[in-house]
Amino acid sequence: MLEGRIVKGVGGIYSVKTSKGVIKSRARGVFRVENLTPLIGDFVNIKISSEDNMGYIIDIKPRNTELLRPPVANITQAIVVMSVKNPDINTWLLDKFLLMAEYEGLHTVVVFNKSDLDSKEAEKLKVIYESAGYEVIIASTKLDIGIESLKNHLKDNISVFAGPSGVGKSSILNKIHKGFKLDTGDISSKNKRGKHTTRHIELLELDHNSFVLDSPGFSSLNLDFIENESEVRDYFKEIHEYGKDCKFLSCLHNKEPGCSVKDAVEKNIINKKRYDNYLLLLEEVKNIRRY
Ligand code: GDP
Ligand code: ZN
Repeated sequence: MLEGRIVKGVGGIYSVKTSKGVIKSRARGVFRVENLTPLIGDFVNIKISSEDNMGYIIDIKPRNTELLRPPVANITQAIVVMSVKNPDINTWLLDKFLLMAEYEGLHTVVVFNKSDLDSKEAEKLKVIYESAGYEVIIASTKLDIGIESLKNHLKDNISVFAGPSGVGKSSILNKIHKGFKLDTGDISSKNKRGKHTTRHIELLELDHNSFVLDSPGFSSLNLDFIENESEVRDYFKEIHEYGKDCKFLSCLHNKEPGCSVKDAVEKNIINKKRYDNYLLLLEEVKNIRRY
């Protein structure tokens, strides 16, 4: 029996990375009965068949995390990438990504890319998101800024990159590892090239204990995974922190009296824009639940 990690899966054949190299493997039929499908990222035990030298997955180890979109197990970290310009920064979308990553229990690093186009804006954003409790990297693939720092953060993690199209996720990945050759460019040219190719997700290996998912994971989001407004509240890091002192335990930090979050916003301790985005996301979740 061999231990390994599934790094790729195409048409029911899983590539399992083991100490003896990558072994193409099939899943044992019983998983289908148990309604359990092996996922990229799964730690598994395989047996090598003497008949065809293929591996057979006989056991899937319990997952630490499980994402649905993209379907991948045991991710440890989300790298949320935004560009400061071209496309312009969209903090509402950024805060939505951060909410999602918190919800999934992932460690998160925020990358502000294309800092060559507006380094002041990048610095401003860094201050805001660091004070919200996030690790922030200012990057530029053009000027080779932030790439080393990001590499250090990727070490010993399985990371998924998230962020809208065009912010430079593929360019960053290509910089991080010489072996990676992901498609980069503007959206229209990518769509043209992507039309006739089927996308399979795959874990790319940085070293034997560090992987990144090749597909820029989630590029847009809806919030239907969120059950109710209090979840939005609890997954906004700094709002959760300051909310502990509110007069009412149930405080949504909206119109309630004695709210320490609103207090902190007025004193500029919590960034006003973050707070406004929080209120927008509260509203969004409220509306999802209505239908
Ligand atoms: P993705 O859709 O997020 O994977 O973005 P891509 O990596 O395909 O990049 C989109 C466009 O932005 C490409 O034309 C890149 O050359 C460009 N780009 C990527 N990084 C930078 C950067 O740091 N600065 C500037 N000015 N352009 C960049
Ligand atoms: Zn409050």
